Amino acid sequence: MGILDNKVALVTGGARGIGRAIALAFAGEGAQVAFTDIRLGGEADDLAASIRAKGVKAMAIQSDVRDFASTQNAVDAVEKEMQQIDILVNNAGITRDNLLIRMSEEEWDAVIDTNLKGTFNFCKAACRQMLRRRQGKIINIASVVGLIGNAGQVNYSASKAGIIGLTKSLAKEFGSRNIQVNAVAPGFVDTEMTEKLTAEQKKALTDLIPLKRTAKAHEIAAVVKFLASSEADYITGQVICVDGGLTM
Ligand code: NDP
Repeated sequence: MGILDNKVALVTGGARGIGRAIALAFAGEGAQVAFTDIRLGGEADDLAASIRAKGVKAMAIQSDVRDFASTQNAVDAVEKEMQQIDILVNNAGITRDNLLIRMSEEEWDAVIDTNLKGTFNFCKAACRQMLRRRQGKIINIASVVGLIGNAGQVNYSASKAGIIGLTKSLAKEFGSRNIQVNAVAPGFVDTEMTEKLTAEQKKALTDLIPLKRTAKAHEIAAVVKFLASSEADYITGQVICVDGGLTM
């Protein structure tokens, strides 16, 4: 018996990093898990096999979150194969860091299109059935920089602040239909996204974190799993920081 038995979850950008950890955490609680990624390959195959090894159905879908038609196709495919979507996690995200003075229009657009528009696209594609069924959980992966900002990340922090605004507005729109919409704002997590930082940059960051360490992806997934469960039925429109105390 798991806390997500008989639920169907869809995780975007799930092939690796935090998305992968969320997909595995859901599967460990009995959910059937579909995940998308812009490219499917060995990592996606491995994840699908690991999900199935937990005794639940898995589905890997190639989909670009920036493209609404592609998101609608992904949602339609999951609803056809697994009948419904109970839990949507908007996780796909990218960084294209630069100081504003040097940031290109392409760097701005790529991050806003993937992180913010991608979240809009999947919320819009997946909500129809949730609204009809009068139940659903939407969890958007934001970031602490959407709350506190970060030099060199005007595009990324604007996209994440946008996700927080979207989350709160959608929680108000969908509340009467019993659909909870929340955001999780991770601090600094060990994934490929943060591998690009130098050792000095990592040290400077961890010095600022009260817990004096970075997070593991499973520590973010644990909070997402809770928000996806019926234990969190009375929580909506919230931003839960999982950041070792960085933003307190
Ligand atoms: P990763 O880069 O490890 O994984 C992101 C995944 O999203 C990749 O599999 C990537 O595919 C996929 N992806 C990228 N663009 C698209 C797209 N257009 N359509 C579909 N999938 C796409 O990142 P993390 O796991 O670290 O990050 C996951 C989320 O957590 C992001 O939203 C990120 O902003 C957020 N976050 C991460 C933090 C961290 O410290 N790591 C901190 C705060 C928030 P591919 O690699 O093939 O491009």
